[in-house]
This record gives sequence, C-alpha cells and structure tokens, in this order.
Amino acid sequence: MSLVITDECINCGACEPECPNTAIYEGGVEWELNGESHDPLSEEFYYIVPDKCTECKGHYDESQCVAVCPVDCIEVGVEESEDTLMERYNQLNG
Ligand code: SF4
Ligand code: SF4
Repeated sequence: MSLVITDECINCGACEPECPNTAIYEGGVEWELNGESHDPLSEEFYYIVPDKCTECKGHYDESQCVAVCPVDCIEVGVEESEDTLMERYNQLNG
C-alpha cells in the first residue's frame, strides 16, 4: 500500500508535482492509470494511489512527498518489501 495522506492534510498542493509516479491527486479529482480513469480515493484531501506509489524507489532515495509536506501528514500505510516496490516501479515505467 505504501504511503497515505492523513486527514491533517491542509490541501496546500506542495506534494503533487513532486511525485515521480504521478501517484498524488487533489481530493475529488479522478486518478488515472494506463489511460483509464478511476473514482477519487478522497473527496476532501489530497490522496495517494497505492498502485502508483513506489515510496519513490527507483527514482529517489527518499520519499519526495514526505520531504516537502509542511505539516508531516504523510505516513506509511502498509509496509511493503523493496522487491514489491521495485516490481511496481518496473510496471509503471515499462
Ligand atoms: S512516496 Fe514518492 S511515489 Fe509515493 S506518493 Fe510520495 S512522491 Fe509519490
Ligand atoms: S504537502 Fe502535505 S499538506 Fe500539502 S497537500 Fe500534500 S499531503 Fe496535504
């Protein structure tokens, strides 16, 4: 599942452009993968799509969203192995 944004999010939008996997969306906005649109995972706060988050593995040494969030409201949801995250990275990046 990787990272999740909690309800302490202040909707500043700082994290969204930093995500190398475009896994972060504004509340109420549909998310996309492989050309398909899906219902928003939150209507109120920015959210992270679990199937698109690699905890930045494959791109950076640290999670970019966590690094920029001014209120530290991004947490680990469910721990995933390095192999799982890299497998996802390879799927997302062809
Ligand atoms: S940890 Fe990285 S890949 Fe996951 S949502 Fe944050 S910026 Fe995107
Ligand atoms: S940077 Fe933090 S507070 Fe701002 S939108 Fe992202 S999760 Fe919410």
